[in-house]
Amino acid sequence: MERERMVEELSKIVGKENVLSSETDLFLYGYDASLFKAKPDCILFPGSTEEVSQIVKFCHREHIPVIARGSGTNLSGGTIPTRGGIILHFSRMNKILEIDIENQRAVVEPGLFTLALKNQLARYGFVYQPDPASEKVSTFGGNFAENSGGPHCLKYGVTTNHILGAEVVLPDGEVIQVGGKALDNPGYDLTGLLVGSEGTLGIATQLTLRIMPKSEAVKTMLAIYNSLEDAGRTVSAIIADGIVPATLEILDKLTIKAVEESVHAGFPLDAEAVLLIEIDGLKDGMERLAERIMEICRKNNAREVKSAKTEAERTQLWAGRKGAFGALSRLRPNYLVCDGTVPRTKLPEVLVQVMEVSKKYGLTIANVFHAGDGNLHPLILFDERDEEELRKVHLAGSEIMKLCADAGGTISGEHGIGTEKMKEMFFIFSPQDIAAMRKVKKAFDPEDICNPGKILPEVQA
Ligand SMILES: Cc1cc2nc3c(=O)[nH]c(=O)nc-3n(C[C@H](O)[C@H](O)[C@H](O)COP(=O)(O)OP(=O)(O)OC[C@H]3O[C@@H](n4cnc5c(N)ncnc54)[C@H](O)[C@@H]3O)c2cc1C
Repeated sequence: MERERMVEELSKIVGKENVLSSETDLFLYGYDASLFKAKPDCILFPGSTEEVSQIVKFCHREHIPVIARGSGTNLSGGTIPTRGGIILHFSRMNKILEIDIENQRAVVEPGLFTLALKNQLARYGFVYQPDPASEKVSTFGGNFAENSGGPHCLKYGVTTNHILGAEVVLPDGEVIQVGGKALDNPGYDLTGLLVGSEGTLGIATQLTLRIMPKSEAVKTMLAIYNSLEDAGRTVSAIIADGIVPATLEILDKLTIKAVEESVHAGFPLDAEAVLLIEIDGLKDGMERLAERIMEICRKNNAREVKSAKTEAERTQLWAGRKGAFGALSRLRPNYLVCDGTVPRTKLPEVLVQVMEVSKKYGLTIANVFHAGDGNLHPLILFDERDEEELRKVHLAGSEIMKLCADAGGTISGEHGIGTEKMKEMFFIFSPQDIAAMRKVKKAFDPEDICNPGKILPEVQA
């Protein structure tokens, strides 16, 4: 269909003021936080489920791709309109619809920022646990579609453990409800299937979330190391001791330097690595648990273990962790965040292998990651204007994913597959596994209009 006519038809659904289609707009909505770019045909800002349904029905009828978009912070090319089509931007559907303290649930629209809900919940002494480092701007729609993780997911589980239901517009425009406030719903677990499906099976227009009372007490510690491997070994040792802290996050030397130059979190510049540990729960027994953890750190060669004495000190340490990607982006024009997971015990050896990849390709790699989950984030720094360097970055990124897969891990801990890692799916799945997933996609979206060209590779690598 001609773009002009398409824009005219869609304007009738959302109103002219909620459609963008100038060349500049198409450029601006053609990229996300990944390395990929492609131009959509237009951008729509729906205001209700009914409007989303009508738009999707139109796309279904006309065979036009439709791609949901939150804040575009995903790191795997999940919102790239590789086959053109319509971007559905959810910034107008960003309300908290209900906070139900008695039942420990909240109902939100998909365009709501993750932190915006947390700020409201704090007034009731409640919390929504998943905490992607991007939470200031990431939306619940994006969290839902990527099954996002975060530092506190070690103890509390990732997004799928906290989304209990959703209102979803299917690729033919029909609206369904999956799951809900109740704990166990009969029938197929469609909520489980849809969380993490990267917008390829349907579009969420409402989400029902689990919320929890805030912990009575929290303690944050920083263990400082002269070796990155020792920091990795400490993580396994703490868990092996039967302790599950709320968070176990590692930052390496290069990350520490970048953080100190921008965020000033108080990390020592001469350390090879720091391990940020947080425990939460009842006040009673917390000091004893902290002592045990500090002892394990020292046994694994931590040269110093400090603990935050005040809320301000704690906030400062977390600012260092949450600002790490931003801090690193000051060093080179671009970065690729590799997102692989390995069994925790394999962390030290895989970290050494990652640094071998860095040497092999002559690329600078920083490491900042959710160590407790074995979720590595080697960040490759580069300049995309240098084509040769860019070529090496793609090769190195793929090689790091292979290392994770070969170590018994997987190729995404939380950032999804998107456009970026489709061929790497064969590192962990057989052609039969992929074929089974393709059948699911076909059952939901036989016309292949819902975020097409994502997750599933076309042919065997
Ligand atoms: C600095 C930085 C730090 C980050 N830290 C973390 C982290 O700690 N943990 C983590 O997991 N991720 C992290 N991320 C990645 C990213 O922020 C998350 O994936 C986040 O959930 C994406 O949210 P978004 O609103 O930006 O979604 P978008 O990027 O806009 O979209 C992501 C995917 O969701 C789909 N989508 C969006 N809305 C809907 C909807 N309503 N229905 C169906 N599908 C939809 C899109 O089509 C796309 O496939 C980080 C990114 C950056 C840039």
